[in-house]
Amino acid sequence: MEKIGVFVCHCGSNIKGNVDTAAVVEQISHVDGVAMAVEYPYMCAEAGQAMIRNAITEHGLTGVVVAACSPRMHEATFRKAAERAGLNSYMVEIANIREQCSWVHRDTVSATKKAVALARAAVAKVHRNTPLHPGESSVTKRALVVGGGIAGIQAALDIAEAGFEVTIVETTPSIGGKMAQLDKTFPTLDCSACILTPKMVDAAGHDNIAIHTYSEIEKVEGFVGNFTVSIRKKARSVDMDKCTGCGDCWAKCPVKRVPSEFDSGLCNRTAIYTPFAQAVPNVPVIDRTNCVKFKTGRCGLCRTVCQPGAIDFDQQDEIITENFGAVVLATGYDTISLDKFGEYAYHDSPDVLTALEFERMTNAAGPTDGRIVRMSDGHKPKSITFIQCVGSRDITNRGKTYCSKICCMYTAKQAILIKDKYPDVDVQVFYIDVRTPGKNFDEFYRRAAEEYGVKYIKGQVGKVVNVGDTLHIQAVDMLEGRHMDIQTDMIILATAIQPSATAKTTAGMFSSSVDQNHFMTEAHPKLRPVESHTAGVFLAGCGQGPKDIPETVAQASAAAAKVIGLLVKDKLMTNPCTAATDEDLCNNCGLCGNVCPYGAITYESKLTASVNNALCQGCGACVVTCPSGAMDLHGFTNRQLMAEVDAICK
Ligand code: SF4
Ligand code: SF4
Ligand code: SF4
Ligand code: SF4
Repeated sequence: MEKIGVFVCHCGSNIKGNVDTAAVVEQISHVDGVAMAVEYPYMCAEAGQAMIRNAITEHGLTGVVVAACSPRMHEATFRKAAERAGLNSYMVEIANIREQCSWVHRDTVSATKKAVALARAAVAKVHRNTPLHPGESSVTKRALVVGGGIAGIQAALDIAEAGFEVTIVETTPSIGGKMAQLDKTFPTLDCSACILTPKMVDAAGHDNIAIHTYSEIEKVEGFVGNFTVSIRKKARSVDMDKCTGCGDCWAKCPVKRVPSEFDSGLCNRTAIYTPFAQAVPNVPVIDRTNCVKFKTGRCGLCRTVCQPGAIDFDQQDEIITENFGAVVLATGYDTISLDKFGEYAYHDSPDVLTALEFERMTNAAGPTDGRIVRMSDGHKPKSITFIQCVGSRDITNRGKTYCSKICCMYTAKQAILIKDKYPDVDVQVFYIDVRTPGKNFDEFYRRAAEEYGVKYIKGQVGKVVNVGDTLHIQAVDMLEGRHMDIQTDMIILATAIQPSATAKTTAGMFSSSVDQNHFMTEAHPKLRPVESHTAGVFLAGCGQGPKDIPETVAQASAAAAKVIGLLVKDKLMTNPCTAATDEDLCNNCGLCGNVCPYGAITYESKLTASVNNALCQGCGACVVTCPSGAMDLHGFTNRQLMAEVDAICK
C-alpha cells in the first residue's frame, strides 16, 4: 500500500506569509495514499531534513512530497535526505509553492488553493513513480577552453597546473584577446601587456596546454565527461613548424594598407602579418582576401624571402577531432557598431575615437608611439572630451539597455593618462552617472576629478558637429539645467560592449543558452554563476556578462576549479530520466532523431528508434515530437504528467 508523506515548508515568511500552510496540510492529508502531512519553518534546514528522514523510517513511507521552493533550489537536498533513510531518491517530488505560488499571488485564498492543487499534483505523480537508478559514465580527463583572451588563458593555466591537459581554441591569429590591446589597467595603472604577456608565454610553454589559434569550433557531440569536438584550424598559409618568426615576409609584402584589427584601424598592416609584436604564437598568417597571390596568382615575395621555406600557399583548412571531459566558454566581447549613433560624428571626423582606439593611441607600442594626437592633422589637442554611456543603458532600441560596467573606470583611467602626459590639456567628461563599485575604484575616480582636475559634467550630449578643424558639442548640463555649446579638439566615446559575434553560435553548439542580449546564461545567477545550463560546460569572462579584468580572472579561476572538480572524478553518475521507445508503437518515422539535440537517437534496427542512454539528457524533445506516442521519458512519463494534470483539475 502506498504511504506518502507530505512536508510543507514555510520558507520563513516567503511561503507562510501568503499561503495558509496549515490549511494545505489539513487538505492534503485527506488525499488518497497520503499517510502523513506536516509543516515546518525551514524544511531544507538540518532539522527539516531530519524530520523527513525520521518520517520515512517511522511511517514506512513509500514516497515523499516536499511542498517548498523551486526544485532547482533544493530537489537534490531532499532527494539525498530520502536516500539516507533508505528511500529511492526518485520517489521524492517537489511541489513548488514558493516561486510559482506565494511569490506570484497577492491574495492568500487563491495562493493557498493553488498550493493545495500543486501538492495534490505532486502526490498524484509520486503514486506513479518507480525507483530509478543512475548509471555511470567515464570521464575524459582533458579540458577545452574556447577563447584565448585573459579569461581563457587564466582558466587554461589553472586547469593545466592541476595536472590536466587543456586545449585552447582561439579564432584570431594570437591569444591575448582585448587585454593585449589595452595600455594600462585601472585602478592600479599597471601596464596591461606587462601583466598579460607572461601569462601568454606561460600558456604557450606549458606542457599540458595545446593552443590552436586561427581556429574555430566546427562541431560538438557528446555530453559531460565525454565531449567530442571537431576544431577547424584555418589555413594560415604558413607552416608553423618551420616559421621562426623572423619577420622578413611582412617586411617585403607589398600590400601595406590593410587596416590593422589589433590597432583598431588607426594604422595599417600588411597582407601577411602577426597582429602584434608579442603575439603567441609568433607566426604570421596570410590574409587571403588581401594577398596579391591569392587574388591574381602573382607576387609570392614572402615565399621568396622566407629562408626556412615556411610559406605554403596550398595549405588547406584542417579539421581535427579531440575528446574532452569539460569545457570553458570564454568567448569575450566586442564593442558595438556606431552606425546608429550619428549624433556623435564618429564617421564624420577622424578626431572622434572609440575608447578602444584611444587605448591603442596612448599605448607606447601603438601606432603613434603613445603620443596623443589628432588623427586629422597630427597635432597635439588642447582639449579632449569624453562621452560616456554611448549605446549603454540605452532605451531607444539603438544600443543596449544594460550598463557596460567598465566604461566609467576606463574613462577615468584614460583621463588620468592624458593629464599625466599633458597636464595642460583640458579634459572633460560628460556622464549620466559615475558607477565605481569596485575595490579602490571610487578613490581612483576622485583622483581623476580632484587631483588631476578632470572636469566631470553630468549631462547628455545631443549633437557633435565637425566644423573646420574643431568639434562643436551641443549638450545639456543636467545639474545646472543649462544648454551648453562647447568646442573641443578630440572626442572619445565610451562605446557599449556586447558579446563577441561567435558567442551565440558557440553556446548553441554546446547546447548552452544565451540571454536576450546574447550573453551566455549561467545555470543560476547566485548559486551557480560559472556553470552553464549544460552539464560540464562552464562560463568565464565577458561572454557571460560585462566585467573588468579582476572579475574576469576571478571568474576564470572559478570556472577552472569547477572543471578540475569534474576531471578528478573517474566516473560520473548519469541521469536516469532518459527517453525510451515503445517498440510496439514506434513506426520508425525518424522525427525524434531530427529533434534530439544530443544525437542520442539511432535507427540501427531499421524497425524502431533506439535511445542511447549515455547520450540522452532527458530534455523530452523527442517525446513531444513523436506522433505515435511511442517515446516516453523515465521519471516524466505521459501517465505521470496526465495524473498531475488530472489532480490539478479536480
Ligand atoms: Fe620569417 Fe618565413 Fe616565418 Fe615569415 S614565414 S616570419 S619569413 S620564417
Ligand atoms: Fe604579401 Fe601575398 Fe605577396 Fe606574400 S604573396 S608578399 S602575403 S601579397
Ligand atoms: Fe534526445 Fe529525447 Fe533524450 Fe532529449 S529526451 S536528449 S530528444 S533522446
Ligand atoms: Fe518512432 Fe516516435 Fe521516433 Fe517516429 S518519432 S521514430 S514513431 S519514436
